[in-house]
Amino acid sequence: MNVFTIFGDPVSHSRSPLMHNHVFKTLSLNACYTRTQLYDGSQLRDIFFQKSLSGANITVPHKEAAFAACDEIRGIAKKIGAVNTIINENGKLIGYNTDADGFIAAIQSFGPLQNALIIGAGGTAKALATVLRQNGIEPVILNRSSNRLDYFHENGYQAYNWETFTPDSYDLIINTTSAGLSDDLLPLNAPLLTELLSHARCAIDVIYGKETPFLREVKRAGLPFKDGSDMLLEQGVLANHLFIHGTVSTDTIRPIMKQSFLY
Ligand code: NDP
Repeated sequence: MNVFTIFGDPVSHSRSPLMHNHVFKTLSLNACYTRTQLYDGSQLRDIFFQKSLSGANITVPHKEAAFAACDEIRGIAKKIGAVNTIINENGKLIGYNTDADGFIAAIQSFGPLQNALIIGAGGTAKALATVLRQNGIEPVILNRSSNRLDYFHENGYQAYNWETFTPDSYDLIINTTSAGLSDDLLPLNAPLLTELLSHARCAIDVIYGKETPFLREVKRAGLPFKDGSDMLLEQGVLANHLFIHGTVSTDTIRPIMKQSFLY
């Protein structure tokens, strides 16, 4: 049996086991998908081999540690420096990032966009900044601290912390922080968020399955919005396609995986 897992901290909220197991079962594949609470990202590689995994997904806060754990990085993950999917290819760990393309698929319904404000500067923010720019939507980054801004400055993005930021007008406001995931916090102070939303066309929170404080503010502002469910589905479809080595098309996997959202 091929065994897969999702590494994260926290990880109990993750819908990935449900999504992937539903596809494996429906397609009668000899595979199962578990979840693994991982406190220390530097342990990821050892645990991967201890569990004899065929592949894995990686969620908050270990995507950069996962990048470091791989023997080879393919595709857009190279540019991003963060990995959310690992495949075991004959004992070598191959890293990919499916969050980026998953996000672009998710925001299509908002229509054409010129620019975006990304709140947060972690692995997801890197993925989205890279893919937004590739798709002609210029991102600006706003993070709580300066710790993670170097990557963005080095790659030519405008990136600010709460002290250095001056608000402007952005078509799309994106919450990529984990504020609201397992707490009841806004990703930045309420007056600033209200001002940003008053100039925006739409907003998305990459957190899924709950109404975060960020989304509550977006609703109050009356903007079109989404949570992270569509992004979750699309990144999962792409990851599953990698797990099964492309033997089934993404167009076949998508409706099956989507059914698991009804449970
Ligand atoms: P990281 O740990 O890499 O980054 C977390 C970021 O959140 C950092 O910029 C951090 O700021 C910021 N942050 C954390 N807490 C707060 C807070 N209370 N206030 C303000 N900023 C805060 O996480 P990831 O990028 O891997 O993941 C982020 C979120 O995206 C998670 O909730 C994850 O579940 C979700 N996600 C959803 C996906 C989907 O498919 N829908 C796909 C990928 C991720 P600082 O640098 O100052 O610490």
